[in-house]
Amino acid sequence: MIRGTIALVGRPNVGKSTIFNALIGERKSIVEDSPGVTRDRIYGEVEWLTQQYRVIDTGGIQLENQPFSEEINMQVDIAIEEADVIVMLVSAREGVVSDDIAIARRLQKSKKPVILAVNKADNESLRMNTYEFYELGLGDPIPISGTHRLGLGDLLDEVVKDMPDRNLPSYEGITSFCVIGRPNVGKSSLVNAILKEERSIVSNIEGTTRDAIDTAFRHEDREYRIIDTAGIRKRGKIYESIEKYSILRAQGAIERSNVALFLIDGELGIREQDKHVAGLAHEAGKGVIIVYNKWDSVEKDEKTMNQITKKIREEFKYLDYAPIAFVSAKTGAKVSNLIPLIDQVHDACTLRIPTNVLNDVVLDAQMMNPPKPHNGRQLKIYYSSQVSVEPPTFVLFVNDPELFHFSYKRYIENKLREAFGFVGTPIHIIARKKS
Ligand code: GDP
Ligand code: GDP
Repeated sequence: MIRGTIALVGRPNVGKSTIFNALIGERKSIVEDSPGVTRDRIYGEVEWLTQQYRVIDTGGIQLENQPFSEEINMQVDIAIEEADVIVMLVSAREGVVSDDIAIARRLQKSKKPVILAVNKADNESLRMNTYEFYELGLGDPIPISGTHRLGLGDLLDEVVKDMPDRNLPSYEGITSFCVIGRPNVGKSSLVNAILKEERSIVSNIEGTTRDAIDTAFRHEDREYRIIDTAGIRKRGKIYESIEKYSILRAQGAIERSNVALFLIDGELGIREQDKHVAGLAHEAGKGVIIVYNKWDSVEKDEKTMNQITKKIREEFKYLDYAPIAFVSAKTGAKVSNLIPLIDQVHDACTLRIPTNVLNDVVLDAQMMNPPKPHNGRQLKIYYSSQVSVEPPTFVLFVNDPELFHFSYKRYIENKLREAFGFVGTPIHIIARKKS
């Protein structure tokens, strides 16, 4: 559970990306391992005092063919829009420069808490030299050094102090879903189409301290939230055409959802950018439904649906568990299938398998197809236990986790899916040494 968002802002070369990397450490990401995915990250997570925060490096969000001042303004705007606490970075080595003053002015006008960090304060004399930064009017400057990793704890202490208490609405017992996809795939049209069918819209709800607006409705006896509908409606107004920013936005929405509807534009077919979005949905460990939209404008015969399904499976191999729905947000065709599908997926995400039933399935699987010996040693699974849901996570107690080969893990996963379905949800399987 993410407690809040921290954005790093500052003119180029003050050390934003250095600090960002120092804060998030090395984290491997499936999204980044896929070919064609932007390598330089702008988003990561940091843990401080047992709480998780997300960190945004606004320096990585760039505008093409725009003057430099436009770009900085955009970065500051996005920080103000997305963050709960903003960290403005300046450089102890260069002192106050005019761009610092311009950024500080914009930040002062926002209502967000701002912390001023003086980077490159690598030694004692540079650390003592931070007084001139009081001129920026952002309170006490905190000396840090990204390259020497000094002062980062003090900085995080201050950040956490300013982190607002988010009264996250309690969404327990409610199914939250979001609609994600490239610009123009039909996200807002689909949200409208779903809501048109649902007579009993409860309300728009202030989501968080950020300006996310969620829409609540009831369907039969269940309650739903569409997460961050404002983000969709406001598209175009602020920088949503910048891919990195729309990805960031989608990531935030997925985090707050149980199920993500990942939209593909049927009129255009699958595009490279779709893969980034799909990767996000998969990585988050949430339920995923692939929605092939604009089905009305696809020229089709009785083979088309199978052909497209095959193509989707090839392009998004890691989403092999996600069901595919063909809809038209415009005409409303098949949109009514989505709510039952969302129910089915959410139920799968939260399914708990009784331990004895689970053990029967895993031990049967092992008996039918025993693991191949590796260097003369054979994996042995003694027993299994489901340790959590969303996503369903299983621990297998074994003789030696090193012997739990990827292909055997895949085999066990398939057996669990055969036995229990788990439609639309990733499942995690962990091998642990039996004590
Ligand atoms: P950004 O443009 O704000 O993201 O800045 P970078 O993180 O790319 O850093 C710009 C330059 O400053 C790089 O050459 C870094 O190695 C250097 N730098 C970053 N942090 C420190 C620091 O704490 N001390 C010193 N001396 N150099 C730093
Ligand atoms: P968003 O950017 O993902 O929110 O996409 P919009 O909902 O704004 O839709 C982008 C464009 O696609 C608009 O012109 C819509 O009218 C059109 N569109 C959306 N859904 C459908 C659909 O199911 N069929 C067709 N033919 N057009 C659609």
